[in-house]
Amino acid sequence: MKCALVTGGSRGIGRAVCIRLAGMGYYVIVNYLSNDAEARKTLDLIREAGSDGELLKFDVSDNAAAVSAIEGWQDAHPDTYIEVLVNNAGIRKDTLMLWMEFEDWTKVLGTGLDAFYNVTRPILRPMLVKRYGRIINMASLSGLKGLPGQCNYSAAKGGLIAATRALALEVGRKGVTVNAVAPGFVRTDMVDGLDEAELRKTIPVNRFGEPEEVAALVGFLASKDASYITGECISINGGLY
Ligand code: NAP
Repeated sequence: MKCALVTGGSRGIGRAVCIRLAGMGYYVIVNYLSNDAEARKTLDLIREAGSDGELLKFDVSDNAAAVSAIEGWQDAHPDTYIEVLVNNAGIRKDTLMLWMEFEDWTKVLGTGLDAFYNVTRPILRPMLVKRYGRIINMASLSGLKGLPGQCNYSAAKGGLIAATRALALEVGRKGVTVNAVAPGFVRTDMVDGLDEAELRKTIPVNRFGEPEEVAALVGFLASKDASYITGECISINGGLY
């Protein structure tokens, strides 16, 4: 059984990644925070894609909860390990720095950056022991260039990109690759309320991206074909920089 864990797999890009990995033959562990109905729907779609999986509900920003869930899963499955990890869960709480409450800062950093530590660390050792692993981190255009109203989100994603590069240097010799993906605007709940008609004028391909397009890139990075790519941050943004 080849296993993959996708954080924030209940909706949006994470769900599309779950389905893509299922199509590649992975047993998919779907992490999410609270939306049980959507998570169950993702699991149904994984099964429709011809594979299987399970739900693993925990808050990625909570170190103790993440470690306990992941170690519990590993203890219950001593014959296998998580060979693909997609750190995808993320939130945004946009506001100008002048109005940003400390909680808006810590929540976005907790889900976007602390989570990388909380989830990756307990999964890394088995990957190193087995000398094979794929870690893919969901960054953002905002983490590459910074966007107004997103000091918290840009900091989380920028930090995630830097951590991607650092970890790639640590584990490359052990057959583990670590890469980031930086989407522009992708049609999910996260961009609900944005003025798509206006924003698309700024995007060279003149539309928002689809979750499945991001999932195809993640699937490639998760594959053996991507063995010689590590420490990269690959943009998928319709040409918007
Ligand atoms: P989304 O539709 O809002 O889905 C967010 C997912 O993250 C949900 O599955 C949610 O679970 C989960 N989640 C949130 N907080 C969590 C926590 N503390 N612990 C565990 N799971 C948590 O978002 P999306 O647009 O698919 O975004 C996915 C990733 O892509 C994020 O990292 C985002 O920053 C990044 N991204 C998105 C865009 C875009 O335009 N959409 C652009 C660039 C980057 P529940 O369903 O339980 O709430």
